[in-house]
Amino acid sequence: MNIFTHNNSIKIIGILILLLPFMSKSQNYNTLTVNNLKTGNKIKPVGINKQNPKLSWKIKSNQTNVKQTAYRITAAKSREDLLNGENLTWNTGKIQSDKSHYIDYNGEIPSSGERIYWRVRIWDNDGNVSEWSKPSFWETGLLDASNWEAEWIQPRIDEDTTKPQPAQMLRKTFTLNKPVKKARLYITSHGLYQAKINGEKAGDQVFTPGWTSYNKRLQYQTYTITSQIREGKNAIGITLGDGWFRGYLRWDMKRNIYGSKLAAIAQLEVEYEDGTQETIVTDDSWKSTNEGPIRMSDIYNGEKYDARKEKTGWAKPGFDDSNWKGVKTKDISTEKLISQEGPPIKRIQKLTPKRIFEAPNGDTIVDMGQNMVGRVRLKVNGPKGTRITLRHAEVLNQEGNLYTKNLRKADQKVTYILNGDGTETYEPHFTFQGFRYIAVEGYPGELSKEDLTGIVIHSDMKHTGHFECSDSLINQLQHNIRWGLKGNFLDIPTDCPQRDERLGWTGDAQVFAPTACFIMNTASFFTKWLHDLKADQNPNGAVPHVIPQVTEGAGAAGWADAAIIVPWTVYLHYGNKQILKEQYSSMKDWIEYMQKQAGDNFLWTSGDHFGDWLAYNTTRSDYPGATTSKDLIATAYFGHSTHLLTKIAQILGNEEDAQKYKSLFQNIKNAYQDEFITPNGRVTSNTQTAYVLSLAFDLIPEAKEEKIANYLAGRVKKFGHITTGFLGTPLINETLTQHDYKKLAYMLLFRKDYPSWLYPVTQGATTIWERWDGKKPDGSFQNPGMNSFNHYAYGAIGDWLYTRVAGIRIDPENPGYKSFHIDPFPGDKLTYVKASYKSIYGKIKSHWQKKNDTFILDVTVPPNTSAKIHIPSTQAQKIKENGKAASKNDNVTVTEFSHGKTIVEVGSGKYHFTSKTK
Ligand code: BGC
Repeated sequence: MNIFTHNNSIKIIGILILLLPFMSKSQNYNTLTVNNLKTGNKIKPVGINKQNPKLSWKIKSNQTNVKQTAYRITAAKSREDLLNGENLTWNTGKIQSDKSHYIDYNGEIPSSGERIYWRVRIWDNDGNVSEWSKPSFWETGLLDASNWEAEWIQPRIDEDTTKPQPAQMLRKTFTLNKPVKKARLYITSHGLYQAKINGEKAGDQVFTPGWTSYNKRLQYQTYTITSQIREGKNAIGITLGDGWFRGYLRWDMKRNIYGSKLAAIAQLEVEYEDGTQETIVTDDSWKSTNEGPIRMSDIYNGEKYDARKEKTGWAKPGFDDSNWKGVKTKDISTEKLISQEGPPIKRIQKLTPKRIFEAPNGDTIVDMGQNMVGRVRLKVNGPKGTRITLRHAEVLNQEGNLYTKNLRKADQKVTYILNGDGTETYEPHFTFQGFRYIAVEGYPGELSKEDLTGIVIHSDMKHTGHFECSDSLINQLQHNIRWGLKGNFLDIPTDCPQRDERLGWTGDAQVFAPTACFIMNTASFFTKWLHDLKADQNPNGAVPHVIPQVTEGAGAAGWADAAIIVPWTVYLHYGNKQILKEQYSSMKDWIEYMQKQAGDNFLWTSGDHFGDWLAYNTTRSDYPGATTSKDLIATAYFGHSTHLLTKIAQILGNEEDAQKYKSLFQNIKNAYQDEFITPNGRVTSNTQTAYVLSLAFDLIPEAKEEKIANYLAGRVKKFGHITTGFLGTPLINETLTQHDYKKLAYMLLFRKDYPSWLYPVTQGATTIWERWDGKKPDGSFQNPGMNSFNHYAYGAIGDWLYTRVAGIRIDPENPGYKSFHIDPFPGDKLTYVKASYKSIYGKIKSHWQKKNDTFILDVTVPPNTSAKIHIPSTQAQKIKENGKAASKNDNVTVTEFSHGKTIVEVGSGKYHFTSKTK
């Protein structure tokens, strides 16, 4: 008999409801669990090349002040063995440790294509022990170059590689004689590729194999294709586009930077149900053609697609390829092949048009309502041969027509020719555009909003930061910063996504990295890019201006320093020393380069630098905005990077180096003071940036600190606005705040006229502009030679919004937010801020609000971390937590008073503080 008759179940539910409050509050009812198991920053990665990947997990608990005191990890080659505790490849036993991140796997090493399943359980400081976590796993890729049985193949096609060429298609049919248990496809290319198995795309990534320093490091992807493959006849098809490999790159529209011929290498490994294996590889049996529908594809210039030339079923068995050409095998080394390091690039989000209208010049314009990066998916029904063109632009000009001059030579044009076969949908393959507006020409019939979809594309990273406050303009600024990241993190951090550039400018990445680390989890994204930086670093230590290096020029102050500042930033946010270890030699080489340039007097006064790029007001003609002496900037960065390397050497336990860089830093500091600081505390150049760099980089004598900060404040008051460029802007508000000029920092933040962060917002910006006045109040534009409307550099203010306005701040001694500060600086005009950050330990929350004379601060501290909370009140006895005197709460310890604030220390949990502002 079923006991859950209607009446019984009501009774049981009633009893449960009555018991619930006791169950959840009871000290004994503990819910310590472990989840979110990661292998090297990724969840269940397939195809990784690391022998000893790092293992991490998150802890969940309904208790406060939870700390891990011990862990135990077990691992095995199968799920069953893991669950049964048999044939374990690793069993740590109970390890006393509070480490819940980056534990080196130290068990039996798997061979290529093998899985290791693992799980973990933990003990906490209250004597609780968790259940075993759910099993997780990683699977290795092709661990050694010799594991590649496949050969590189190139289509046998004559082509004129001085101009864009049609995409090339490769195919092969093969037969599998037994039921398949498991199938993997390992693949990469020269050029971009898309692979299909039996007509279906492998995986959901786009822009594969991504962009690395191709001639030194080329990523391959691993796809799980078990469900796409079957016993019997199968086919694999690969399409190749020019991409970054041989398409146009740079403002001088250079082609064939990495080579002039497209090629592919693919290895399909099948494991049958009976345990036997079979491998299908690229070799000279493949067929090829360039007669397919993609007639042209180019990163900058768009794509031309002739649907009349579609080859239906070309990636399925049974397709007649008798008139296709053959392929040549090529002797290209597989040594440079690496498994994918960064997050995959994906189609992340769809936007629907906001408006369709006719421009004064007669163009039909679609407004996406957001300056976005990706491409348009088109839906159309019309006669065969109808040609539709889409021209993409970020802005409209004063007359209201499409404005494309700032794209310089990048065409951003997509052409689609209909095959006339009912409803057709098309989305470009090997190109992306930066745009808000699209001029549509040749659309048959009435164009409606449903016919176009904006597909937003970027590296697939987890959103970690949220910031919202009582001021809608600041919220829009925050939105614009986020979209600056979304638009420019496409496998590499780019300066801009629309004009004939889209390159990995090091300076831009350096200034934006701290903000980016708040907004999304950029750990593996930056790690991969930094490996490219190291690979492309010149033998003399100079770091190229752009990474991957596709231009000449290297070693510019504030740009090349990305070699040290970016890994340092990543280390602070994610707490993994590995990145410091991996980049250490690159960092040292960069310092040595600067040291040679500076010579015996420790002043760096030579070389080509961009200076405080695009600052307000210029008196020099060589580069816009470089009003701050480049000698000063170069020496300041030389000092700053050396200072950071001193800390890094210490962290890595390299005492000798630490001493060496410490004394080098001291020498630079002395030289800097002698050369650039007057006895009275004025800094030469007398610009905001000159003061900011001196203060922020710790280059001044302590005795003069107040005076110098006062001069900085004076420069801000004199202008009433910011005058900084790329290098001063990220640091100015932080420096003002640190030196008790919070009000001035907020003044700069809230200013709405040019130049300011909010001016573009008042002009309807939906992304961060390259120039403070990209569009002038009268609707005219800045010089089209340098006027991107999607350039994240000035979005570096985002870091200050998180660290000072919301107050979520790293403790550098305990990186990765193992311990951190909640230290808000509430600005006069703001009545509340709601911010959160999903750290590697869990969600950190800082919500503050002002209500009459009460300041309310709601804080969440994740398990296995602790926080120092700075409450803006000196009356410690009046501070309450959850309505009761904070001093009476065992979990809250008042530690010190500083800068008019009471600092309390707490363990994990949720806290609700109130204090009096008067
Ligand atoms: C890019 C910048 C870059 C700069 C170097 C520009 O063309 O767009 O953002 O940092 O050159 O100064």
